[in-house]
Amino acid sequence: MPSTLDVIDPSNGEIVARLGTDHRDAIAQKAARARAAQPGWAALPLEQREECLRRFQKALLSEREQLARTLTLEVGKPIAQARAEITATGDRIEFFLHHAAEALEEEFVYRDAGQRLEERIAWEPLGLVANVSAWNYPYFVGTNVLVPALLTGNAVLYKPSEHAALTGSAMVQLLTEAGVPNDVVIPVIGAGQAGADLLEQEVDGVFFTGSYATGRAIARAVAERMIPVQLELGGKDPIYVCDDAAVATVAAAVADGAFYNTGQSCCAVERIYVHHRVFGSFVEAFVETVRGFRIGDPMKDDTYIGPLARRAQVAVLEAQVADARAKGARVLCGGARGEGPGNYFEPTVLIDVDHRMAVMREESFGPIIGVQAVADDAEAVARMSDTEYGLTAGVYTPDRERAEAILRRMNTGSVYWNCCDRVSPRLPWSGRAHSGIGVTLSRLGIRAFTRPKAWHLRGA
Ligand code: NAD
Repeated sequence: MPSTLDVIDPSNGEIVARLGTDHRDAIAQKAARARAAQPGWAALPLEQREECLRRFQKALLSEREQLARTLTLEVGKPIAQARAEITATGDRIEFFLHHAAEALEEEFVYRDAGQRLEERIAWEPLGLVANVSAWNYPYFVGTNVLVPALLTGNAVLYKPSEHAALTGSAMVQLLTEAGVPNDVVIPVIGAGQAGADLLEQEVDGVFFTGSYATGRAIARAVAERMIPVQLELGGKDPIYVCDDAAVATVAAAVADGAFYNTGQSCCAVERIYVHHRVFGSFVEAFVETVRGFRIGDPMKDDTYIGPLARRAQVAVLEAQVADARAKGARVLCGGARGEGPGNYFEPTVLIDVDHRMAVMREESFGPIIGVQAVADDAEAVARMSDTEYGLTAGVYTPDRERAEAILRRMNTGSVYWNCCDRVSPRLPWSGRAHSGIGVTLSRLGIRAFTRPKAWHLRGA
């Protein structure tokens, strides 16, 4: 009997759809179809692939309202933020469309005087790639792989998260309607087992977005295959507010960085360190901002905090609050799950926190944050660096030199001066340590779907 996947509305726990899932044999057949279709797709002139992706971009934007509603229904993302994600995905696709040609352009690197020896680098698609994806920004993390992979001539087996399967299926449907052949991009529907079964297929590259725990399991599973593996994993991203920062403005900006998407962003601010001289005024302004966040029905235009996508995460947040309290932390606002069947958790601010507490060490992935006072920049650097993760780190100060001195010492893929929780299509997105390996976005994130071929040519 085929198994099914229930799509649950996180705002009320109701089942809103039931999808058939792919078992191992079906996935193997899909892999065979995609493998057979890939050379034909790669042989098309780049312009034809670009035209398909251009049509896909237009369809995303013209269907935005319906797509946003589906995303909100299954993930609980506040509708205004769902719309914003789709709009920004359009901008990312624009970047990829502009830069695909140069990423694929052959480079002549040497010619001898007599023109008899020539050396050049060609860029070829990897072949068939697996895209195993997270739910928190399904349009971003889905298209970060789908679009450059397809532009560069790969076929893609795409497993959206089980928490964003309607959105993932919609994306594939729009891609095929835009002209990408059916067998060149194929969805694989299911939970972790479907992901594991997919990675048993003979794929030429694995592109994963998700947690460190799953990323590690995937790295182990494919280690002997000698194929590129990119892992975009979690974070415990810190922000340091210096004593010369404009505290009220910074507090509002950092609160947004911590609580946007209900705190479920890989680069959400997860730890805040504040110079002791401005700690009191920062915390006051911060809590005031957080108290003003509108929490509720994610389908409402003015909701800022929605339910958590996953029921299990509510208990994780409860445990982090209990652990912090038991070790001496104080809860300034929030601290408890919401009433009713939805996965709500009150926006929570903790002080008197330290690094013995899970809330300062383990990814919370929800609307909860600890704020810790530090004596000076040296202590801030030490605290920010005391983590297994390495995704982003930020500093707020008007003094650029001071910020750059601190940020140079951060072992993270991205650093922010006077901003946070920010991703740019022009810059490489990469993690270090438990935040993963590999690069998406930027020119490097297009090249990631190619492999070089070195041509040595000697005229007779
Ligand atoms: P997850 O690890 O639970 O799941 C991610 C995907 O892996 C899902 O599609 C899931 O079905 C699949 N999967 C689970 N077990 C598998 C297995 N054994 N083999 C193959 N696939 C398997 O993560 P999630 O809850 O979907 O996403 C949240 C995490 O993703 C957070 O840690 C967040 O920080 C991270 N994330 C990182 C980035 C980034 O760019 N670095 C972006 C978004 C999310």
